[in-house]
Amino acid sequence: MYRTYTCGELRIQNAGQSVTLAGWVQKVRNLGAMTFIDIRDRYGITQLVVAEGAGGAIRETAARLGREFVIQATGKVIERASKNPRMETGDIEVELTELRVLNQSATPPFTIEDNSDGGDEIRMKYRYLDLRRNPLKTALMLRHRMAIEIRNFLSEKGFLEIETPYLIRSTPEGARDFVVPSRMNPGQFYALPQSPQTFKQLLMVAGYDRYFQIVRCFRDEDLRADRQPEFTQIDCEMAFVEQDDVLATFEELARKMFDSVLGVKFEGAFPRMPYAEAMEKYGSDKPDIRFGMTFNDLTRQAQGHNFVVFDSAEYVGAIVAPGCAGYTRKQLDELTEFVKRPQIGAKGLVYVRCEEGGGFKSSVDKFYSQDDLSSWAEACGARAGDLILILAGDKRRTLTALGELRLEMGSRLGLRDPQQFAPLWVVDFPLLEWDEESQRFFAMHHPFTSPKPEDIPLMDSDPGKVRANAYDFVVNGVEVGGGSIRIHDSELQQKMFRTLGFTPEQAEAQFGFLMNAFRFGAPPHGGIAFGFDRWCALFGGADSIRDYIAFPKNNSGRDVMIDAPAPIDPAQLEELSIALREAPAEKK
Ligand code: ASP
Repeated sequence: MYRTYTCGELRIQNAGQSVTLAGWVQKVRNLGAMTFIDIRDRYGITQLVVAEGAGGAIRETAARLGREFVIQATGKVIERASKNPRMETGDIEVELTELRVLNQSATPPFTIEDNSDGGDEIRMKYRYLDLRRNPLKTALMLRHRMAIEIRNFLSEKGFLEIETPYLIRSTPEGARDFVVPSRMNPGQFYALPQSPQTFKQLLMVAGYDRYFQIVRCFRDEDLRADRQPEFTQIDCEMAFVEQDDVLATFEELARKMFDSVLGVKFEGAFPRMPYAEAMEKYGSDKPDIRFGMTFNDLTRQAQGHNFVVFDSAEYVGAIVAPGCAGYTRKQLDELTEFVKRPQIGAKGLVYVRCEEGGGFKSSVDKFYSQDDLSSWAEACGARAGDLILILAGDKRRTLTALGELRLEMGSRLGLRDPQQFAPLWVVDFPLLEWDEESQRFFAMHHPFTSPKPEDIPLMDSDPGKVRANAYDFVVNGVEVGGGSIRIHDSELQQKMFRTLGFTPEQAEAQFGFLMNAFRFGAPPHGGIAFGFDRWCALFGGADSIRDYIAFPKNNSGRDVMIDAPAPIDPAQLEELSIALREAPAEKK
């Protein structure tokens, strides 16, 4: 046996035992007469000691150890003279009787400590070394734990885990596909699934009325902190259900996860907020409801005073930052800069200070009397000492910008505690979204989402007004999951494709298999998919999903460890009947 214990296991009760440990050298401290070696494995760190009376062979071996050497150490567990309460094994050390180098290590390019000295790129390149560090290990352990809990819960509820193919066909809706050339079918391509959506619906037609899969999905999109080109979904589908059944089932899953993984319990049902309300009050379809600071519509009150910015605006909206009346010029300038960033896109920021002694000071005093400002304060529920922040412009953009400003103020005021969780369901999403550029409607969720039955007539007269039986699961401003009740009637599905601007031929070519399946007795069905990486990051208190994925890609979609993507051999291209249009530019 290489080891009798792991490096995280020994306690004072083991004192007197002879043990063997195996692991990596974290640190060697040579104090002349004695040498201390920290040995590390996945489970922890144990201190080894080469005592004063140790034999020459052990001394020699200890002297040539370097960081990350792999060693096997045998010795006696003894109580430490100076205990280290910060280490789980800090009460003991192992006095060596034997020391063997199992393998040497080159000097690692960064320190393998909780706070490493290595930059992002170098740690990505040596990801297997980075993975030896505690923060990543804890993240992957959390991920494992969550996957097990999810599997157990769903299995107990009768869900079957069924795998669906990774080589499928490209579809025009949704994000950009990753494609894979087919050697056996020259000139033709598979696509990697953006999600198993159509397959899980076909499983419902097949009668597998409760399906789930913890599954990799692929989307060729620009990357952000919470996006990776390949990511994992907890994909679920149920037959013979309505929206309430799906929400109840997965609210139970979410509660179970919060409770068993974090020890967090919630009283009462998770709130449900219609999309329209989320936009009007929070300027976001994934509102962070850990704090209030909801929007106030001042459009009517603010107009008609010769202030052209407000007079020409479709919408004037305000939030109240409690206790911020004393914000300095500099702080207000910072906020103005913040809202003017291109990704937020507001033209400017108007403020009203509600002064402690009564009275108001604003950046628009020229246009508005104290009475006017007082009426705004009243409409917003602002009190003495508060600061009113106002944005104006085209409605949709202004709501979103005000939403960003709200989050910024929430962060500044410490209202977004990562230890506090505020889950909710956002419901009643619009079925369709108008795209100015292509002058057509797109499905807001996906083209298989069912309109609310009472809104179906609007599909012809006012498609933008149709609400869907679609829902998102949102926690702390993060969209953790989303799903919908599906269309299960081939006629309605065809109508949907028509509304999306497909000709019958295009619909047939892209989704004929699904509409064909629906001719053979498709049950009513619906489902949801959770972003597993995101859910893990949320529970781990992190903004980025990267650390919850063992081998992630960088911001340009590269795996810098294996150096992918990479050119392929001309012979491989030949075999695939692919000719590159031009030699790709030298890329580094
Ligand atoms: N397939 C959908 C998605 O990936 C989720 C669902 O509707 O179940 O967003």
